[in-house]
Amino acid sequence: MKKAGILGGGQLGRMLLQAAINYPVETFVMENDPACPSAHLANHFIKGDISNFDEVYNFGKGLDVLTIEIEAVNEDALEKLEAEGVKIYPRPSALRTIKSKLLQKEFYQKNQVPTSAFVITKNKQELLSLREFLPAVHKLDKGGYDGKGVQVIKKVEDLEKGFDETAVLEKMVHIKKELAIIIAVSETGETAIYPPVDMIFDQSLNLLSHQIAPADVPEKVFWKAEAIALRVVKELKSPGIFAVELFVDIDDNVLVNETAPRVHNSGHHTIEACYSSQFDMLWRILLGYPLGNTDQLLPAAIVNLVGENNFTGPVLYEGLEKVLAMDNVFVHIYGKTTTKPGRKMGHVTILSSEKQELVHKANQIKHTLYVKSA
Ligand code: ADP
Repeated sequence: MKKAGILGGGQLGRMLLQAAINYPVETFVMENDPACPSAHLANHFIKGDISNFDEVYNFGKGLDVLTIEIEAVNEDALEKLEAEGVKIYPRPSALRTIKSKLLQKEFYQKNQVPTSAFVITKNKQELLSLREFLPAVHKLDKGGYDGKGVQVIKKVEDLEKGFDETAVLEKMVHIKKELAIIIAVSETGETAIYPPVDMIFDQSLNLLSHQIAPADVPEKVFWKAEAIALRVVKELKSPGIFAVELFVDIDDNVLVNETAPRVHNSGHHTIEACYSSQFDMLWRILLGYPLGNTDQLLPAAIVNLVGENNFTGPVLYEGLEKVLAMDNVFVHIYGKTTTKPGRKMGHVTILSSEKQELVHKANQIKHTLYVKSA
């Protein structure tokens, strides 16, 4: 049986391990927190720091294949393991490009992938001289996630809010829609593409509200988005699962925002909605099997369950029974024992042939199920 390692033990690792049950594979997870969502689902849990060279190297040494569920890993150790014959999917070279916003933007530019115009800023002083580039969005080169490390700079007075370290200043896109496209790439370079997902934001809360798949876009936008996303993964030259996040602007131009080299929140519905989920697909890739079928059986919505503001401590799911009583609704709780504001604690997938019903139920769930603490 092949030995497969996952760096990181969060919810993505957990859902990946749930899908491992169907495959001949012995699973290993490394993560610092023994109470993480993945620990008890892996055949072997190793407590360790995924950003530490020696710990990652020692973890990967005896394995056949290694993947990640978060980008914050030590890619130098992964490079050494790769040179010694361990399969690392995504490849460390692709991971290195993606981990740096700066290298990522340069990669798009070099490969003629449409993306918003940008300038690199080394410190705040450089930023202050870029008044004519506004409105823009300032993004930290490294370490940003979930909107942390992103600062909107609309006018000159906002420049003060920018970062005083290496960052990318991007022209602000007049966004009509945000899409995500998940693509699978096999060891032999074959690709399989999932239908695009509409990421719908709550403008007042500035938070992701829900996601709908397949996305509601004109055919022309659909083809453009697919072609652009495919170009990104082809040029990354790595097997794995990739989530390409795209903007559609008011003129229907499609621009790449960013790419994740791993299973992604925008693909959670694939568990119930597609023949082969993104997690099933990643096992096929890691173990060298044929790719699965990405076709979607029914339209789907995803509602993320995040910790309510003002609640920190042992978690309590208010309204869970009511949601479990709803038809064609699938609740996934990630098993985190404590909640805090904004923490991703679970998600709910809704299936329906009627798009309107999807939106209606998504709203209903958001007003029924709350992540709180006693
Ligand atoms: P993160 O990876 O931390 O989520 P993103 O780069 O995806 O950060 O940015 C977060 C959000 O900020 C995006 O989903 C989008 O709504 C907005 N945003 C990012 N870049 C731009 C841009 N160039 N123009 C307009 N809005 C942007």
